[in-house]
Amino acid sequence: MMQGMVSEKTAGRLAQAKSVMYWHSRHRFCSNCGAETQVGAAGWKRVCAACKAEHFPRTDPVVIMLAVSGDKCLLGRQPRFPKGMFSALAGFVEGGETLEDAVRREIKEEAGISCGKVTYMASQPWPFPCSLMIGCLAEAEDEKITIDVTELDDARWFSREDALKLVEGRLDGFFCPPKFAIAHQLIASWARGEVV
Ligand SMILES: [Zn+2]
Repeated sequence: MMQGMVSEKTAGRLAQAKSVMYWHSRHRFCSNCGAETQVGAAGWKRVCAACKAEHFPRTDPVVIMLAVSGDKCLLGRQPRFPKGMFSALAGFVEGGETLEDAVRREIKEEAGISCGKVTYMASQPWPFPCSLMIGCLAEAEDEKITIDVTELDDARWFSREDALKLVEGRLDGFFCPPKFAIAHQLIASWARGEVV
């Protein structure tokens, strides 16, 4: 994908294979009784020979979102990012939580910003190891950033003009994830005014 060598369709199949193979490698034993499990349904489940429990591949939902305040959007960088890279904030959805709540909680936790309305944009399978990235826009209710330093190195507001330069690779000293990543698409579609 990074080098443009696979189509989206092929990437989807590879993502499917990667995430299912990962799941098999981590579920050789029954989480109910501890006995060994066996592959069933051509790889789409594992069955415990001892207690008969059936186990199915899982997908972990992750929200990835752009908080927006007027003509500015909030981007952050995790410590593991290469120097200069900024992206949309993201985090796992917790049990009992709606996607909207997860978006608001993650932005509040990581950057200290309260958000109101949340709008779903698009999703992307992310087999690292087995996530589904759910892309959203969130309307910020304030702009004072307080960073959670255990999660982020930096977070800042980018003007629409700078966000556009960022996705086009024209913002000196800064860059964002590549085109195929949903973070890129979120930033690009907001910067180009395709979404409010
Ligand atoms: Zn069992």
